[in-house]
Amino acid sequence: MTLTGPVAVVPGLRARPVLTVRLDAVAHNTRLLAARAPHLMAVVKADGFGLGAVDLARTALAHGARSLGVTTLTEASALRAAGVTAPVLSWLDAPDADLTPAVLLGVDLAVPDLAHLDAVRATARRLRRSVMVHLYLDCGTARDGCPPEQWARLCAAAADAEREGTVHVVGVMGHLACAADPDDPENAAALARLTHGVAQASAAGLHPAVRHLAATAGVLGVPGSVLDLVRVGAGLAGIDPSGRTSVLRDVAHVTAPVVQVRDVPAGTGVGYDHAHRTSAPTRLALLPLGYADGLPVQASGRAEVLLHGRRRPLVGRISMDQVVVDAGDLPVAPGDVATVIGADAPAPGGADEPAPTLAEWARWADSLPHAILTGLGARLERRTVAAPSAGTDLQESR
Ligand SMILES: *Cc1c(COP(=O)(O)O)cnc(C)c1O
Repeated sequence: MTLTGPVAVVPGLRARPVLTVRLDAVAHNTRLLAARAPHLMAVVKADGFGLGAVDLARTALAHGARSLGVTTLTEASALRAAGVTAPVLSWLDAPDADLTPAVLLGVDLAVPDLAHLDAVRATARRLRRSVMVHLYLDCGTARDGCPPEQWARLCAAAADAEREGTVHVVGVMGHLACAADPDDPENAAALARLTHGVAQASAAGLHPAVRHLAATAGVLGVPGSVLDLVRVGAGLAGIDPSGRTSVLRDVAHVTAPVVQVRDVPAGTGVGYDHAHRTSAPTRLALLPLGYADGLPVQASGRAEVLLHGRRRPLVGRISMDQVVVDAGDLPVAPGDVATVIGADAPAPGGADEPAPTLAEWARWADSLPHAILTGLGARLERRTVAAPSAGTDLQESR
């Protein structure tokens, strides 16, 4: 057993790990992306990528988004309950879900197959109202949407429902599978499939006003996929799925206070299973957040944080509630604050190294920035930086 040096603890230290949501950055990202399409639908699914669906929705709508996209009517209902009146599209309700809220709250539904269309028609008949639908063609994901071989029948049935007055087909939509690589030939193939699908819809007697295919990666990297509307989620949160551009601003910032430090000799085993052993005398700093707060355990042994303006490695395994930083010879003390994710770029000419980004955490964990972001836990204290009021001149941010 290795005896360690004196341990400094601050009794009653109240600072906690904090997730700061930069709505000013959301406003910037929305304006930038909205300028590249006729109509930007802000996708606020999964509680707005973990940032807060209502905050994300309101900010996006104030800065150029014209409508909202969600996965289910449950998410749509939460927006309506918060007083959000903008158009909403929901695209992944189960065929046996209660579709009543679509009618009562005026939420458009994506329809991927005949069973779904029948459920929409039944709900509309019962409530004697028509439902706005977007027919959803699988353009090459083999995930969601209507398989192409069933598309003509779906269009014919939708035209029948329009004559009956139960549905109104306002859109035809698809989704890109490979847009994170702008050069992938699959992007052009998907566009051709959507174009053909729209022609089939017209032949069936439908007149959808909006065609939509692109999400964030399409808007940023595949301009030809931008049609009448784009469904953008990740980009609002500062994520470029291609990792190629740097025009978006980071939205999620996570900091954590040092709650304990100890000086240890070389050869000290750190944390569970001594997954790390120090190679030299060093100072270890304890941060009170871990995988229960959303730090991926797979990033153990790779991740770094910013402490005293320096990138320092996390050592040992990421635990449920805590991680250990090897602070080296930095004069770290309890109460100092480490940046764990995505602070602003360092001031020009300043001495600080850049803070770790969501994209780096994703690499360290063999994961995706989206997954790191949506995983940031409810236990983190949340703070919000307000967006500038709508209409403020944001020229500097373009
Ligand atoms: C999540 C999702 C989007 C938004 O994609 P981002 O890459 O987050 O912009 C758009 N359309 C569908 C069908 C989705 O599931």
